[in-house]
Amino acid sequence: MSDCCSAPGLLPFEQALTNMLEQINPVTETVVLPISKALNYVLAQDIASPLNVPPHDNSAMDGYAFSLESLKANKRLTLVGRSMAGAPFLGECKIGQCIRIMTGAKMPDCCDSVEMQENVSVDNENITFLQEKSLGSHVRSAGEDIQQGQQVLSRGHKLTPVDIGVLASLGVATVEVYRRLKVALIATGDELKSPGQSLLSGDIYESNSFVLSAMLDKLHVEVLDFGIIEDDFSAIKSAFVDADKQADAVISSGGVSVGDADYTKDVLDELGEIGFWKIAMKPGKPFAFGKLPNSVFFGLPGNPVSALVTFHQLAIVALTKMQNAQALKRTTLQVRCVGGLRKSPGRMDFQRGILSVNEVGETVVSSTGSQGSGILSSLAQANCFIVLPSEQGRVQAGEVVTVQLFDQYL
Ligand code: AMP
Ligand code: MG
Repeated sequence: MSDCCSAPGLLPFEQALTNMLEQINPVTETVVLPISKALNYVLAQDIASPLNVPPHDNSAMDGYAFSLESLKANKRLTLVGRSMAGAPFLGECKIGQCIRIMTGAKMPDCCDSVEMQENVSVDNENITFLQEKSLGSHVRSAGEDIQQGQQVLSRGHKLTPVDIGVLASLGVATVEVYRRLKVALIATGDELKSPGQSLLSGDIYESNSFVLSAMLDKLHVEVLDFGIIEDDFSAIKSAFVDADKQADAVISSGGVSVGDADYTKDVLDELGEIGFWKIAMKPGKPFAFGKLPNSVFFGLPGNPVSALVTFHQLAIVALTKMQNAQALKRTTLQVRCVGGLRKSPGRMDFQRGILSVNEVGETVVSSTGSQGSGILSSLAQANCFIVLPSEQGRVQAGEVVTVQLFDQYL
């Protein structure tokens, strides 16, 4: 545990994540929804295709269908019928005959190939084929896209707009999904005012609940906003009791360090089993996680950047597991860092970076500049985190670093 030795008393980031995930129980309740209402829900069932897609052999072109055997015998065939999309040719055709066919129309049973209309000459019922064809030309085979019985989507998949289209194309009208999580948000601090209110001396605008609520919307959970709670033991306690009764997870920001007005710890000690962790990460050292009587609790630091980064790196991963959704795969890249970066060993850094392509076409990263944990604008400019391992010291200009691209939540 070199991290602990280099930063005594701090819990390594990966260990915090593992500890937390071990204590998360995914929801079990499911609901059946029409597909038009199922966007962003997590599937509670595997979906196997009830049919072949396409359901029948069909033409990929507007043209003429024939059997290759006919064409081998004679380049001129006699037109004896039409197959349109939704109105297939139901008759018979013999050697020496062909069928007018449109894109998407069912292949007549007596035909195996199609020629596009540009490559034939038409003289009333006499169709002359100008080119050699091979068996199956311009035919889309039944089941070519999806075969009947083939698994198309699996349990744990979060439904995207494209998935809804795929389900519709299979004729699937309803799906069984996990119910949405309810997540309560509590902002603590006497100094906090909501946008629209006027600031008194020493006040600041409350921003954490807005960022978190927007990210929770993207996560597709139901947000219960408990607003701003003053730094007062009984006010904080009653907010937590109320939130715990209604939500699957309660998320607070602020009050998790050890200042004189940090009552969150005292309240939670009384209400549940909460671990107050000092995580070896920057930003975000103070973080609390544990269980209330009915819900799980995430205590984020108050500083806006710390709150956002711990929410993104820790809480979202846990909430994803609670939703039964497949684990997030965040994209990382190894790139050269344009300038040097300040860093001292002991904590894992999530510095704010801007990934770009330089004048010679190389993808490189640069810092957004000041990395203070209250500077939310540094996150607004960034498009990635520069993730520096705990033991790493200062980064020299030109060194290769790991970046994690911002995902859909940022
Ligand atoms: P705390 O953890 O309560 O000591 O807060 C640390 C810093 O974050 C203080 O400067 C707070 O004013 C600020 N802060 C706490 N909560 C919020 C919030 N919801 N929105 C914006 N800033 C906050
Ligand atoms: Mg506070």
